[in-house]
Amino acid sequence: MKLYNTLTRKKEEFKPIKDNEVTMYVCGPTVYDYIHVGNARPMVVFDTLRRFFIYKGYDVKYVVNFTDVDDKIIKKANTERVTVKDISEKYIDAYMESAKALNVYEENTIHPKATEFIKNMIEFIEGLIDKGAAYNVDGNVYFNIEIAKDYGKLSKKNIEDLISGARVDINEEKRNPMDFALWKKAKEGEPSWDSPWGKGRPGWHIECSVMAKSILGDTIDIHAGGEDLQFPHHENEIAQSETLTEKPFANYWLHNGMLTIDNQKMSKSLGNFFTVKDISKEFDLEVLRFFLLSVHYRNPINFSRDVMGQLKNGLERLYNGKSNLEYLLDKALDKELDEAEKEKLKEIDKYKSYFIKSMEDDLNTADAIASLFEIVKFANTNFNENTPKFMIQYTYEILIELSNILGILSRKEELLEEEILKLIEKRTQARKDKNYKLADEIRDELNKKGIVLEDTQEGVKWKRI
Ligand SMILES: [Zn+2]
Repeated sequence: MKLYNTLTRKKEEFKPIKDNEVTMYVCGPTVYDYIHVGNARPMVVFDTLRRFFIYKGYDVKYVVNFTDVDDKIIKKANTERVTVKDISEKYIDAYMESAKALNVYEENTIHPKATEFIKNMIEFIEGLIDKGAAYNVDGNVYFNIEIAKDYGKLSKKNIEDLISGARVDINEEKRNPMDFALWKKAKEGEPSWDSPWGKGRPGWHIECSVMAKSILGDTIDIHAGGEDLQFPHHENEIAQSETLTEKPFANYWLHNGMLTIDNQKMSKSLGNFFTVKDISKEFDLEVLRFFLLSVHYRNPINFSRDVMGQLKNGLERLYNGKSNLEYLLDKALDKELDEAEKEKLKEIDKYKSYFIKSMEDDLNTADAIASLFEIVKFANTNFNENTPKFMIQYTYEILIELSNILGILSRKEELLEEEILKLIEKRTQARKDKNYKLADEIRDELNKKGIVLEDTQEGVKWKRI
């Protein structure tokens, strides 16, 4: 498999450190608000890469951190007169809900919180001080970038240019304007932890270095995130980690391109800022997942209602192809394949290998999706009720197997709202009649179809899961 490595600016053959394991660290959100549609891109893209590795037989250790202490969280907590923990927990829950609706493989994700690793961060910073790579000024600890080898190697920035271009504050206590905070001295009313330098809290960059090292080890296979994180965040992570361990921090650095809305940068001031929650009111989030995979992950992607509408139709075409195959499977008879049919079957293998080849070429999901459409087209034109069952089964299984890699076509048979309400009515009547057995059966039937009932004082409420 080839992956484009930002560190070398080349597509490279992917070789994991261990033969059968891949370690991945994807920078996660600062939990002070609902995630926006741009945040959803790395979630979906790198989840798809993970799914592909699993498909290829690797054991994947996949970490997405939560930054749960930060200026923005503190500010929001103060405005809303609640604790920092209240804010971070609320938005972690919201993140998990969106991630599940986007079919991100959450059961397989490790989600460390920065506040759970403070001890490790302090140890890490002490290590850097011992090496002369960090210094304490009155309770603030800074990383000295002049000690780091090859600072700027990821973002290809020149250290001299950076220094001359940096804004220097009059009260600057840093030795070099590009030095960055590892530990920040506590201010009044902020959450803080005891440290050898007094009460304080960690800087943002140190969190990822420490959580990656603590959970995945000194060197990881893949570090990933949005292209906007290359500098300074990832550059600083490399500087800290490699100075401390004297080993490469990550062998492959992957970055996804940025998302625009109607060809404009998304911003609250332009009024084109959409959270994933907003989108979910208009579209099933599977459409958003499909949209995010419809363009190669390193290219920019433009979100618009028109494009989402087209992708919604495209996804429906795939679902129709899937249900046609299911219908034929029910009808088809077991019979031997003739020579012509055996030949035909090879076409399906060809589409499958094209799918896999596309995925192996730096995760080209756009081309992989094209193969799914080819499979459905092939089935629609060639199969009918006289087609041998084996052929239909074979095609169906490949369609499902490949769709699972992309995390799509997993929607369960959906009941219409009308049907749900009828069943709820029937259950209410059964309960009135004290026919609890029937009432329970109806509840179970709904559960199986992804509908959960809740008995409240205002009556029965239902939701899809
Ligand atoms: Zn990070």
